[in-house]
Amino acid sequence: PNFLHFNSPSKLPFITPLKSINSTKLPLNPQTYENPLSKTSETLTKLKPFLQSNYQPILLGWICSSISVFSLSGIIPRIGSFSSNLTNNISLSTLRDQGLVLGVLVFAQLVARYWQQAFLWEAALRTEYGMRSFVFEKVLERDLSFFEGGNAVSSGDIAYRITAEASDVADTVFALLNAIVPSTLQLFAMATQMLVISPSLSFISAMVIPCMAFVVAYLGERLRKISKRAHQSIATLASYLNEVLPAILFVKANNAELSEHARFQRLAYADYSQCLEKKKMKALIPQIIQIIYFGVLFILCVGSVVVSHGSFDGSSMVSFVTSLIFLVEPIQGLGKAYNELKQGEPAIKRLFDLTKLKSKVIEIPDAIDLAHVKGEIKFCDVSFKYADDVPLVLDGLNLHIRAGETIALVGPSGGGKTTLIKLLLRLYEPSSGSIHVDNHNIQRIRLESWRRHIGLVSQDTMLFSGTVAENIGYRDLMANIDLGRVELAARVANADEFIRTLPDGYKTQIGPRGSLLSGGQKQRLAIARALYQNSSILVLDEATSALDSRSESLVRQAVERLMENHTVLVIAHRLETVLMADRVFRLQDGKLEELTRSTLLAGHQNSLSSTELVI
Ligand code: ADP
Ligand code: MG
Repeated sequence: PNFLHFNSPSKLPFITPLKSINSTKLPLNPQTYENPLSKTSETLTKLKPFLQSNYQPILLGWICSSISVFSLSGIIPRIGSFSSNLTNNISLSTLRDQGLVLGVLVFAQLVARYWQQAFLWEAALRTEYGMRSFVFEKVLERDLSFFEGGNAVSSGDIAYRITAEASDVADTVFALLNAIVPSTLQLFAMATQMLVISPSLSFISAMVIPCMAFVVAYLGERLRKISKRAHQSIATLASYLNEVLPAILFVKANNAELSEHARFQRLAYADYSQCLEKKKMKALIPQIIQIIYFGVLFILCVGSVVVSHGSFDGSSMVSFVTSLIFLVEPIQGLGKAYNELKQGEPAIKRLFDLTKLKSKVIEIPDAIDLAHVKGEIKFCDVSFKYADDVPLVLDGLNLHIRAGETIALVGPSGGGKTTLIKLLLRLYEPSSGSIHVDNHNIQRIRLESWRRHIGLVSQDTMLFSGTVAENIGYRDLMANIDLGRVELAARVANADEFIRTLPDGYKTQIGPRGSLLSGGQKQRLAIARALYQNSSILVLDEATSALDSRSESLVRQAVERLMENHTVLVIAHRLETVLMADRVFRLQDGKLEELTRSTLLAGHQNSLSSTELVI
């Protein structure tokens, strides 16, 4: 209820003290003292390989910039002499020739400048693309522990870093590339012109620059800090949306629209204030650089005094002031580059933070490939806990599954059944003990080769937007999906019937996370997907829990058919499902206990429902 008055826009600015905003958890980003220079060199080191691999457009852009500066250096003295022509008597043909040369130079300069920008943007965007692709590859390689558990970085945050923040990187790279050669070249060319025309006036002009550099550097550092906070606040907003939108049904069912909106406003307002601060700072820096125009004004005054005393002619004066005006531009460019670098630094850091930690699940160098497995699995004294300071989930567990055998796993929720599957898939390494398949320690098998032999139906059905066929044939690249096998798998999983009633059959788009389908349909699709690959080992983690008893028994028959040539590990609660297994184990307090048939039936009699198992 106290959320309600947040909705009044007039109160918006007061809804939340900024410090109380819980910024995205960044476990990899300790807030320690940062030396600005070491930060910058760190950033440049990260960018280097990506720039190196895109050297062609960079070089082309720089060549165009040299042409542009070269033309500009030709233009300036001509403008000076052109202006003096106006006061002298000069033939029309000379004027025409001079005008023609000037026109060609101006045109060359404009064209060269266009291509300079086009090539440098190409380099910057290629860098962005390369970095995104590199970072996402690393993200996919990271351990499961990066994505789940209390310290995980939320998927919304990761998505934000790879999309929006990475595009900030392109702006930074462009500004840098534009500064390194083009601005510097132009700066030197203009300074040389000025020195040639009048060393003393140049000296006076030069005095403004160091003062400005100092102020700009100071503001740039402030900008970096503000940018970092702005990135974090928008990432928090993105993670929030990413969490709440998929749960929209639940939000509505709980009448939580107002409170969710208030939550959104709190986060969006935090972002608003951070961004405003950032934009103001970004607006300030160019203005400071503009101060140099006062310098121009000053030079004009000094110059006109000198001209009127006859020691300096009018055309030199015009050339000098034109050079000075064209000198401001590269100085602004350098300032902007510094600006962009400082603003992009946090984005680059946050992007690369995603790639930082080494995986714990690693492949040994001489890992073997398993072409076939029979499916004999041994857990030997396996203990496991998720973190150092939490209790063991599995405690010295031993289990020997013979090839082709079907094992059912029961036990209380939170007992560690799913964890056992994660260890089998090598998504986590055991804290102690080992797991073997056909007498190979799974740590000695190439990950890809090992996981290929396991068909998994996970507890939370994971479907992707795409067609039914693409979801069932998920393991094969889209072009290679074998439609015959897809239909076979769907028939065995008892999904064929409902798929045919969908508007486009196997080509029906099932929407984000399969939202077109019911819970039971999703599960049958997930089962079909696990069957499609025809792996020797099949793992069903509460795969039939969302099925009605009729579909459940059909799936059970399917699994029974499969049991003949697969090793099956099935986690379930229904008695019938459990009874078809060769052996049944209960996982409780980290230990396994084999249940005999009579215990099971006795447990069944204690049960209130006719199908649920209470043991
Ligand atoms: P089950 O599948 O038997 O219901 P789980 O294997 O999912 O149980 O969970 C076993 C225990 O491990 C639970 O206490 C749960 O809180 C904990 N747990 C599960 N996943 C994680 C994780 N990623 N980080 C920390 N603890 C976890
Ligand atoms: Mg589970």
